[in-house]
Amino acid sequence: MSLGARFLEQVDRAFDRAAGFTNHDPTLLANIRTCKNLFYTSFPIKRDDGRIEVMHAWRAEHSHHKLPCKGGIRYAEAVDAEEVQALAALMTYKCALVDVPFGGAKGGIRLNPKRYSPAELERITRRYVFELVRKNFMGPGLDVPAPDVGTGPREMAWIADTYTQLRPGELDAMGCVTGKPVSAGGIRGRVEATGRGVFYGVREVCSVAEDMQALGLSPGIQGKRVVIQGLGNVGYFAARFFQEAGAVLVGLAESEGAIADPNGLDLEKVMAHRRERRSILEFSGATNLTRREDALELDYDILVPAALERQITAENAPRIKAKIVAEGANGPTTTEADEILTRRGVLVLPDAYLNAGGVTVSYFEWVKNLGHVRFGRMQKRFEQNAYARLLHVVEGSIGRQFTPEQTERVTRGASEEDLVNSGLEETMTGAYHPIREVWKQHGGKVDLRTAALIVAIDKVALSYQQLGIFP
Ligand code: NAD
Repeated sequence: MSLGARFLEQVDRAFDRAAGFTNHDPTLLANIRTCKNLFYTSFPIKRDDGRIEVMHAWRAEHSHHKLPCKGGIRYAEAVDAEEVQALAALMTYKCALVDVPFGGAKGGIRLNPKRYSPAELERITRRYVFELVRKNFMGPGLDVPAPDVGTGPREMAWIADTYTQLRPGELDAMGCVTGKPVSAGGIRGRVEATGRGVFYGVREVCSVAEDMQALGLSPGIQGKRVVIQGLGNVGYFAARFFQEAGAVLVGLAESEGAIADPNGLDLEKVMAHRRERRSILEFSGATNLTRREDALELDYDILVPAALERQITAENAPRIKAKIVAEGANGPTTTEADEILTRRGVLVLPDAYLNAGGVTVSYFEWVKNLGHVRFGRMQKRFEQNAYARLLHVVEGSIGRQFTPEQTERVTRGASEEDLVNSGLEETMTGAYHPIREVWKQHGGKVDLRTAALIVAIDKVALSYQQLGIFP
């Protein structure tokens, strides 16, 4: 069984467990669970040295209950049909949880991006887009990709450029993909959105004193000992926001190994060290751990797996000392590990909720592209002037003037980034409580993952019921 097939089984088992707590018709549940469209293509590309190589690529559209479909594109060696279906299903549940009006999708190409030059990656990406467009698997109203493992703003810019060339004159063409560089139609705050969302989610969970007491922790982020697995897009930004909020990074793991320091690692210094040495190992004052997985077994409070799926298994789950596992990655915990952690009283914050910050800000980017105007452009100056008038009235009534610094602090109008971050914070904090309510309603019979999936299934079911097809 491939890793992808195991991952799909893991996602489907989680769905089945949650579905068992709902009263929906079995045909409706079967319809929600099943992937709607699966596209496979293979195409030849020319390497820089003239050799021809055949690439294998997929796109899965798990749900069309809302359109467009939405989901990242992954460049990794393990990509297969089952992996993209598992990730696409998670996208459906994720979008439902944070009220982002999209169906779930995911795509991928089986390759290790480190083995290809930028020119080769560009040829591969553009050809993949060509194949997707040809088969109606892409478009601002159909299916909108985004970055995932192995891809980033550069690939998204190539995707947008290829799409707009294939669809000349299509007014909303820029909404065909999200995660683009700001200069190519992207939105400020998207790059850090998933990591920031992970942080907002954990902060909200940690703010509930009753739940923290049950874990033997104090409320809040300050002083919490955190381990991060994977310092890519999600892991790096999550680590940064945790550190800024006063958490202590006691362990960091990357593909080359792991380092630990009970007094805290300085993230920016570790990143600078890694850029220089191409490794986080041998960082001054830190201990090198024998195996990268050893970071998971340190003494700490919060684990953020932010690398790949199936990292926490039945083998290592009994030794994980964290009180909270905050799933930055998709599917990092196997079904068996999940059961072990829950039995041991570890609170697992599920991927479908916790890493939804990326798709939330992708949604904002798509709305911006369809609106053809930067957020804040219309109101920033108006707000600034209104606050200034208000201060002026206050100054008149108290009989003294505010300092220029005080005035500037109060009269600032919201920029695009302010609005994006505030929308993200509102989404992540607001989305947690309906999940927690279901969790509490079932009093100990379900874990947070099951509670989140119950909430997601109910929302998707409602969309289908409104069509009048299912009872
Ligand atoms: P990325 O490629 O930027 O980062 C992944 C990092 O993990 C890399 O630096 C890699 O070297 C490291 N890594 C790989 N195997 C490891 C291991 N065994 N131990 C430690 N480190 C390891 O990818 P990303 O975009 O940050 O995505 C990470 C996870 O988050 C994936 O599961 C992805 O599906 C999920 N996710 C990403 C986004 C997004 O917006 N990028 C959104 C939601 C979910």
